[in-house]
Amino acid sequence: MNKVSTQRIDCDFDPSAITIEQAQQVILQVAQVIKETEIVSIRQALGRVLRCDAISTVDNPPNDNSAMDGYGVRIADCQDVNGGGKTTLKVIGKSFAGSPFHGEIGQGEAVRIMTGAKIPVGVDAVVMQEQTIFNEENGTVILNDPVKVGQNIRLQGEDITTGQAVIKAGTRLTPACIGVLATMGVTEVEVTRKINVAILSTGDELQPVGTALKEGNIYDSNRYSLHALLNDPRFHIIEKGVLNDEPAVIEKAFIDTANYADVVITTGGVSVGEADWIKDCVKKTGELIFWKAAIKPGRPITFGKVGKALFFGLPGNPVSVMITFTKFTQWALQKLAGQCIEQPLQLSATLMTPLKKRAGRTEFQRGIMTYDADGKYCVTTTGNQGSGILSSMATANCLIVLSTDETSKKVGDKVIIEPFSVHI
Ligand code: AMP
Ligand code: MG
Repeated sequence: MNKVSTQRIDCDFDPSAITIEQAQQVILQVAQVIKETEIVSIRQALGRVLRCDAISTVDNPPNDNSAMDGYGVRIADCQDVNGGGKTTLKVIGKSFAGSPFHGEIGQGEAVRIMTGAKIPVGVDAVVMQEQTIFNEENGTVILNDPVKVGQNIRLQGEDITTGQAVIKAGTRLTPACIGVLATMGVTEVEVTRKINVAILSTGDELQPVGTALKEGNIYDSNRYSLHALLNDPRFHIIEKGVLNDEPAVIEKAFIDTANYADVVITTGGVSVGEADWIKDCVKKTGELIFWKAAIKPGRPITFGKVGKALFFGLPGNPVSVMITFTKFTQWALQKLAGQCIEQPLQLSATLMTPLKKRAGRTEFQRGIMTYDADGKYCVTTTGNQGSGILSSMATANCLIVLSTDETSKKVGDKVIIEPFSVHI
């Protein structure tokens, strides 16, 4: 028996649906980090997953430099101004960013210095220009305010030191990471190759957008919301269109797609209806690892393998698709990418409208978060929480997370919320 088989969990009947946490752990165990990597320029690296620590070969700043436009001085010359009087110094040269002053300052001397300019030998404080008076006639500068040693000097290596692993393997590169790489003089990085993700809709009732709806039909929205969820530099999306509810058609599509996809995602056909063929087709072309998790919306979530590809059979209802993708498929994709799993930000908020909830499953209700007069988070429901009410996902700005044991909530209760995308 292989590793995958030992993970199989029998949960065909409620209430034996596995918990969301169990399901996530199984997914993380089955999904294996993709070995293949590629080298990309830092301009192409945004959102990709770094596979080797980025170790700096330079200090940043590379040398002590000025944090202000002003005058570089010796603290030893500042006794008068520090004692409540004034200090007058002779200005002997200028240090610009990119054009340093090469001399050394001695007793009673100062150097005009600009922000980012290298600190000349002898200087141990920078006085900002606004705290000085320059006398053009005799080339002296008068200091009016007390001076502290080291003031306005940015120290060599205070940001980054040579040999430091500044960005760790497994980091999804943010705009800040790209800037840090450039600060270190790095031109290209090793990242996980793009993950090939195939998306298929199933259902005889589905029609493509741009056609007039026939009686009893609906537009296929799931492929569009999934495409949007996967619109990310880590993924290469393979569009496989709509499949009819015919086992032979579905099986053939699975076998074909598994040849080149790392992950196959379908929507629909995972429930217990007479047109729900997905589970049978997964069993025939691969392996069914679990079916059903104690989550609402999204209970009939199906996980397994078709050929070598990981398989996610997401439910057909459009809200369930978005929730199960976020709570399950996204975890697998992060693991495949060699990435640290990103836990959603959770905040505590005061409920402004009552909520209905049954114990025994984790619920993700759609909410709108705001602030009260004291700046504390509040949340109201978007209303009808049916798993077909996709407009509730568009209206919402957060999920209200109600854990397994929780039941209905009243106004004033504290609830956990997960705001939609808050990262930079
Ligand atoms: P199913 O699990 O296939 O019975 O689908 C559950 C519900 O989701 C049904 O009302 C379907 O019509 C709907 N549905 C299934 N697939 C899609 C899709 N691609 N876009 C929008 N709704 C869908
Ligand atoms: Mg269907």
